[in-house]
Amino acid sequence: MKFPERLKLANLPTPIQKMERLSHELGGPQIYIKRDDYTGIEVSGNKIRKLEYALKEAVDLGADMLITCGGIQSNHCRATAAMGAKLGIKVHLILAGDSPELQGNFLLDELFGASYQFITPEAYGSQLNLVIKKVYEKLYSDGYKPYVIPTGASNGIGTFGYYRCMKEIVKQEEKMGIQFDSIVTALGSGGTVGGLFLYAKLNGLRKNIYGINISADESYFRQRISEIIKESMEYLSINHKLSCDDLNIIDGYVGDGYALSRSYEIDFIKKNRCFRRYCIGSSLYW
Ligand SMILES: *Cc1c(COP(=O)(O)O)cnc(C)c1O
Repeated sequence: MKFPERLKLANLPTPIQKMERLSHELGGPQIYIKRDDYTGIEVSGNKIRKLEYALKEAVDLGADMLITCGGIQSNHCRATAAMGAKLGIKVHLILAGDSPELQGNFLLDELFGASYQFITPEAYGSQLNLVIKKVYEKLYSDGYKPYVIPTGASNGIGTFGYYRCMKEIVKQEEKMGIQFDSIVTALGSGGTVGGLFLYAKLNGLRKNIYGINISADESYFRQRISEIIKESMEYLSINHKLSCDDLNIIDGYVGDGYALSRSYEIDFIKKNRCFRRYCIGSSLYW
């Protein structure tokens, strides 16, 4: 089995820590957290694991322009802009929204030197591929060699970042003398859950993988993750079909929508402020 290579861009492995007080408070499950917020200051979060594989492919193809997309405050766009600056590859971002204030990740995108354009959230939902195609053609005709990274780097190649992460967790389990029975993460574009699930499946691990979707719904993500996994298996030259039936998607927590907090959610964070060190700024909730 030929496994895709990666660029070493993230600080790995990230630690796994026990959430003593939260476990105690809940009085049942023993809860640990995989600190993927430690992957690197400018690339903090989960996206860099997927970018390690996507950017290796881009470099191998001789790309000199990265095109990617996301929300205005996208962690993925910020990590891509940072790594473009590091690798000396230009970055163009397609951002859903309109003339935002220069702050947060968007400010960092600007400081990292990325160029960007805005499209409406509606167009992002329905015409994204067309917009990407037009941008690609324009940049190509300007003489660039563009490489497209989809939302969240969640495609066949990016997903290997979380395939590899599952392997990392298994090694850490051995060291720690623990076996996690369930792994829980937010589900935004599917590559994180997809990679964890693919590794678990191909290696016969008995683990429940849970994704809590932050947009769309269960049927959308079941379909999307199946597509991603199919694409990953093509890289591995595996052609049997892998069922996603036992992947757990917890639907019902989208609330007002992506990046929109209700007072209920803010209150929850405040109420649990003794755990806040873990619950804010961490990219993954295991
Ligand atoms: C992107 C993201 C996720 C979800 O990962 P996907 O691979 O896009 O499903 C979860 N948490 C944070 C903080 C993220 O930025």
